[in-house]
Amino acid sequence: MIGSFTFESLPCRVIFGSGTLGAAADEIKRFGGKRSLVLTTPQQEAEGRRLGASLGSLFTGIFAGATMHTPVEITDQALIAMKELDADCVVSLGGGSTTGLGKALALRTGVNQLCIPTTYAGSEMTPILGETKDGLKTTVRTNDVLPETVIYDVDLTLSLPASLAATSGINAIAHAVEALYARDRNPVVSLMAEEGIRALADALPSIIATPGDREARSQALYGAWLCGVCLGTVGMALHHKLCHTLGGTFDLPHAETHTIVLPHAVAYNAPLVPDAVARIARAIGASDAAQGLYDLARRLNAKLALRDIGMPESGIDKAAELAVTNAYWNPRPLERNAIRDLIAHAWSGAAPVATKVAS
Ligand code: NAD
Repeated sequence: MIGSFTFESLPCRVIFGSGTLGAAADEIKRFGGKRSLVLTTPQQEAEGRRLGASLGSLFTGIFAGATMHTPVEITDQALIAMKELDADCVVSLGGGSTTGLGKALALRTGVNQLCIPTTYAGSEMTPILGETKDGLKTTVRTNDVLPETVIYDVDLTLSLPASLAATSGINAIAHAVEALYARDRNPVVSLMAEEGIRALADALPSIIATPGDREARSQALYGAWLCGVCLGTVGMALHHKLCHTLGGTFDLPHAETHTIVLPHAVAYNAPLVPDAVARIARAIGASDAAQGLYDLARRLNAKLALRDIGMPESGIDKAAELAVTNAYWNPRPLERNAIRDLIAHAWSGAAPVATKVAS
């Protein structure tokens, strides 16, 4: 039987394909933009300038200072640039860091955004903005930060190093995994989630083997889009909260942390969500979802242990404490000892272990 559910789709126009960057000027005109500011990181400044040149009179300048975690000081600098250049819209070309800056500017000024993602982070599909000020992170959820238009161009992802594609791809899979057992899950998002996991799990090993494989890059970007929709539409649970806590407390890299923790979070929740784990296993072509995700990360040569990305062993207890003190919804209640075991396994890089659910 299909239970009751609420489904709310978020407004956004998506252009997907190869060579779709060429549609940027028309898309800016479509929402009435006349003077666009291109946003990007210092590492992608050259691509940003090339895009600007292709926009002709619709381009007013570039701000190439986007960085991780959307610090408000950077947003303030970008606001000054916007004002000086009299920009009336932004074009964000890059990964989640650049998308975050575009969202922060839209929140403050109401400008329209054309977003052109070049990683699989998925932020362009979410009404969520995380910002940092004096090292503290705040998160807002409002449709005001949603881009008007998103252009996915597979050509732009070919330069994403295969190792980054692997962890960014598993970060995306994590959104879909948690969507399948979200409290507010619904059949439409679950379809997208399973398809998103399938597309990425198929594509990522091919990208590692042949980084220039356009078909695989295209599948991965398609999967990342679907997984981004999942993140933007339904609530997340233990895995995302744990990664947030670990990343914030020990300053760990975002996508690699997700890659390491995901199999363990799935093993923890598995006994309570058999339908979801069956769908995950089917999507990755494994007999067990948690072990299958661990094996996938290993095939991608990704790091498997939190100790290898900078977490101290002494942090295991602290992380377990933090994970259970900030109460949040999860399909399986948060059990202090089992959560500690989960983190200890992720720290050492051992295979995921199903723990007995407390009665
Ligand atoms: P990123 O945007 O920081 O990019 C990492 C590096 O890779 C940057 O130097 C970037 O310039 C470079 N890069 C990006 N695409 C490239 C390409 N195709 N070729 C070569 N280099 C490329 O990393 P990310 O993982 O995409 O984003 C992480 C950030 O996004 C975090 O701050 C995270 O919190 C945020 N995020 C937010 C949401 C949300 O819904 N608000 C969702 C996911 C992630």
